[in-house]
Amino acid sequence: MARIHLLDARLANQIAAGEVVERPASVAKELIENAIDAGARVVEVQAEQGGIAGLRVRDDGDGIARDDLPLALARHATSKIHHLDDLEAVATLGFRGEALASIASVSRLTLTSSQDESGLGWAVRTEGRDMAAVIEPARHPRGTSVEVRDLFFNTPARRKFLRSETTEFGHLEEVVRRIALVSPQVSFSLTHNQRVLWQLKPATSEAELLRRLGQICGQPFVQAARPISVETAGIHLHGWMGLPTFSRSQADLQYFFVNGRMVRDKVVSHAVRQAYADVLYHGRHPAFVLFLDIDPGAVDVNVHPTKHEVRFREQRLVHDLIYRGLHRALADLRPQDAAPVLA
Ligand code: ADP
Ligand code: MG
Repeated sequence: MARIHLLDARLANQIAAGEVVERPASVAKELIENAIDAGARVVEVQAEQGGIAGLRVRDDGDGIARDDLPLALARHATSKIHHLDDLEAVATLGFRGEALASIASVSRLTLTSSQDESGLGWAVRTEGRDMAAVIEPARHPRGTSVEVRDLFFNTPARRKFLRSETTEFGHLEEVVRRIALVSPQVSFSLTHNQRVLWQLKPATSEAELLRRLGQICGQPFVQAARPISVETAGIHLHGWMGLPTFSRSQADLQYFFVNGRMVRDKVVSHAVRQAYADVLYHGRHPAFVLFLDIDPGAVDVNVHPTKHEVRFREQRLVHDLIYRGLHRALADLRPQDAAPVLA
């Protein structure tokens, strides 16, 4: 048996990258979430060849101090939590301090940032390495740009798992869709191969929110959705529930966010399914965009590196709120809205 040795940092990061960086869409998710955490009001996403050849996310957030740039790319380095207590009630989307390190270890990455209005900032560049050696001056307005090129160029086994440009871009677009739904105050643009595909203005009024919902989920959904808002014991469920008449053959228009994070959760799915059970034909799926706001201490988001899963401290309470809220709202619908129609 060979002797035990510590893995070098780069290899450790590449292994960790397997958990968070599956495809260009996962890179986009991490970069856009970082922009949101930095308080961005404007987020621009530019992809080339489905994001495989290139992906750039630019924001107008707080920016990163010059001396912090190399740290931003280091593993287990974060500005978002300090103590275990912070983890119990984390208010940011990120906190693990490993996304940029992971992405940098499997791509050619340039991080450029500025914290002021001088138009000048600093850039670090890496090529599949975890620590950047050189910090160079660069032009940049206040905010941050991360450019990721040639994803998996140094990990051919991973690269083989990438699908066609169209498929990868589809996943990437879905990521933008999700984050844009839950961050209506932020303006988003999405460009693919130089073509501007999305331009979402910030929305605050009810009319603006509906307009944006239509841009993201389609006008038919807006017409077939009803607002919902219910609250129990400090837990607030709100958003839009699709009418039974707008049922779908696939579960492809289902968005559920917990404290600003899109999640897939068994408790939630079960509650929603039960609520719609009486009003949908077997095999049909409801459409919805729902937000659950809950005390951060009552939900554990540190279940998986991608944070798609959560664990509720009071599962029963959450389940009942969702089930009862939707069930009641569905029961109160006008008869013509409630009748199931095969779409
Ligand atoms: P995490 O988000 O879990 O902290 P990341 O690896 O995604 O870890 O980012 C590391 C750190 O780099 C963040 O904690 C933050 O301080 C900084 N950072 C990353 N992206 C941005 C950005 N767009 N704007 C400002 N700071 C950023
Ligand atoms: Mg992050």
